[in-house]
Amino acid sequence: MIIEPRVRGFICMTAHPDGCAANVGEQIAHVRARGRIDGPRSVLVVGASTGYGLASRIVAAFGCGAKTAGVFFERPGSAKRTASAGWYNSAAFERAAADAGLGAWSYNGDAFADQAKERVAGLIAEHLDGSVDLVVYSLAAPRRVHPESGETFNSIIKPIGAPFTGKTIDARTGALADAAIEPATGREVEQTVAVMGGDDWRRWMEALDGAGALAGGCRTVAYTYLGPEHTWPIYRDGTIGKAKEDLQRTAGALDRWLRARCGGRALLSVNRALVTQASAAIPTVAVYLAMLSPLLRERGADEGCIEQIDRLFRERLYVAGGVPVDGAGRIRLDDHEMAEAAQAAVRERWERVTEQGYRQVLDVDGYRREFLRLFGFGMPDVDYGADVDPQVPIPSIDG
Ligand code: NAD
Repeated sequence: MIIEPRVRGFICMTAHPDGCAANVGEQIAHVRARGRIDGPRSVLVVGASTGYGLASRIVAAFGCGAKTAGVFFERPGSAKRTASAGWYNSAAFERAAADAGLGAWSYNGDAFADQAKERVAGLIAEHLDGSVDLVVYSLAAPRRVHPESGETFNSIIKPIGAPFTGKTIDARTGALADAAIEPATGREVEQTVAVMGGDDWRRWMEALDGAGALAGGCRTVAYTYLGPEHTWPIYRDGTIGKAKEDLQRTAGALDRWLRARCGGRALLSVNRALVTQASAAIPTVAVYLAMLSPLLRERGADEGCIEQIDRLFRERLYVAGGVPVDGAGRIRLDDHEMAEAAQAAVRERWERVTEQGYRQVLDVDGYRREFLRLFGFGMPDVDYGADVDPQVPIPSIDG
């Protein structure tokens, strides 16, 4: 099959196996070049196939030499249809891990289900020396079926209290488009909190503890975002912001529990805004990202998921003298993004996001390149004219 990008809205329907493998290879090379991290030995990543979770699995394995278990919900390929990007990423990750002699096992299925937690606890018992010393929780999901009630909750990105109007970028054409979103109902806020809040993180930790799968001193980390004022109506003050407040409360409760239970820690890391499949779905964030990346590049401070997570392990989570946190107890990796000089430039450029002037302040082509790379397109040294097999096995799943 000759595989080309097919973009619909904020998602690409196809993915390229060789391009995804090249992307994973670049991330591994970055971590290796930075040298060894004295970190965890046995790591579970929930949401391990794309974005921040994939980077976490790569840093754990290739930076720390850890055995990893990865949980994700991805589509395998068929004779007629490509797999999802996360499937190809995970296949490439496992191949590279095997070549490096690093144990890696994956579970593809709904992380919200009790069955996933039981199966993964079994996998840890069998392959990861019985317990993990780090759990990374990096899910970004559109819906959750509650394991007890069977009720389906949908996560929705909406403002609260007032309608939102702003600009967004059409990922297919690169054109500036208007976005208008009505405020969420109370029920929509509750549903988004049920999906993206802390309840499932807590259930994972309790299930692993119940199965005896948490090592002494085990740490867990989840990811959040704060961002500047321009994004608040749709992010921090919106439905997703309410879910992230819940995640923060969960981090506090889990931290107290883990400290007492096994001398462990639960932490929230505030990461920078980046183009991922999850963030591409949020209006305005596309505009902000197309502005932020060139601006940080000018300052020599632009980072992708792998640079962020490498820094998380190397300079935050595993440093002598304890984890450095802000006044609210959070790890900060958004320091370059939120630096006053960078945000002053954002404020100035934001005024110029108009129909006439937007291409001067937004790197729309760069944004689209980043977006397509998520699906394995536009990677150097990949022959996109070649006939490739869309069916690629993940060794620990397909044997
Ligand atoms: P992403 O879309 O790249 O990754 C989501 C992961 O979740 C994938 O591995 C996917 O397979 C998995 N997943 C989704 N539904 C699942 C399910 N039901 N069962 C099992 N796995 C499932 O997202 P991302 O941007 O890397 O986000 C990860 C976390 O980082 C989120 O909490 C997000 O809020 C946070 N974060 C993102 C940004 C950003 O700008 N992208 C910034 C700060 C924090």
